[in-house]
Amino acid sequence: MSKKPAILLIYTGGTIGMVKDYKTNALKAFDFSQILKKIPELKQLHCKITTISFDEPIDSSNMNTQYYIQIAEILEENYQQFDGFVILTGSDTMSYTSSAISFMLENLQKPVIFTGSQLPIGDLRTDAKENLITSIEIASARKNDEPIIKEVCLYFEYKLYRANRTTKINAEQFEAFTSLNYPSLAESGVHLTYHHHLLHQPTEKSKNLIVRKKLATNIVVLKLFPGITKEVIASILLIPKLKGVILETYGAGNAPTEKWFINLIKNAINKGIAVVNITQCVGGSVILGHYETSTQLKKIGIVDGKDLTTESAVAKLMYLLGEKLSEDKFKRFFESSLRGELTKTER
Ligand code: ASP
Repeated sequence: MSKKPAILLIYTGGTIGMVKDYKTNALKAFDFSQILKKIPELKQLHCKITTISFDEPIDSSNMNTQYYIQIAEILEENYQQFDGFVILTGSDTMSYTSSAISFMLENLQKPVIFTGSQLPIGDLRTDAKENLITSIEIASARKNDEPIIKEVCLYFEYKLYRANRTTKINAEQFEAFTSLNYPSLAESGVHLTYHHHLLHQPTEKSKNLIVRKKLATNIVVLKLFPGITKEVIASILLIPKLKGVILETYGAGNAPTEKWFINLIKNAINKGIAVVNITQCVGGSVILGHYETSTQLKKIGIVDGKDLTTESAVAKLMYLLGEKLSEDKFKRFFESSLRGELTKTER
């Protein structure tokens, strides 16, 4: 039998790492280094598991860019010694965190799988065991002595997704995530079936991992709604030191054509604020210029967010603004696929 892959299991917090105290009925965090004792089935997997945990595990609502950097540094320090990584976080902000980590890891050649659960690991009906066991199996999976997965993914309820394509869509059902603009990369049923043609294949294998840690946080997500006022938009665009705006528009990237609206956006762009157009729809893409309602936006230099999710657009904006690129380069990079996060179009 081949050498056992070494897997690093990183616990940052969230429901998955909790157990019920049957006397009090309260949920409490358990010592993650004891995971092999709690889930003896893990010993049956063909891999060697090492665990590491945040000193103080967090609910993922408290996630922020400092924690992103902490996760990225754990990956950086352990990248050579391990064959694959499984990161456990709360599901609430998992799509944001995993998208950000995907941009922070350039030239990634190993699997980084995010997972969590809707019910604690100690609960009788828990979804945690399956999510955890299959994520570890995927992180260990190899073909021709190479990892099958070489990108940042999110595994939940029998499906493996490209992380930066996902969105949390349900707070109650086990099937909590979706990826409407890119198919799942693998499914777990009787067999674990990978869709090899959909997996990211790094072209330059000799390149070393680069970890990008300069993230800009002076950004805002501005969701349009019918009736939004000039005062609201103007005051948001006047936020001191604002560097980027994710403008969540309607349908295929449509927004009001009123003069005051276009002028406010135009002034912001002229001031050097990057304004990105993404759609409020969970599926589909911005098509700038498709309707009259987006031709003005195109003319004034809005960045085309294409079919990015909000989570991925936020992460990409933090990353690219942190890199301090020229305006031209920023637009070009934002509109290209850097980690498979958007669909290339010939428009
Ligand atoms: N509130 C929890 C969190 O996101 C929910 C979960 O773990 O899924 O941390």
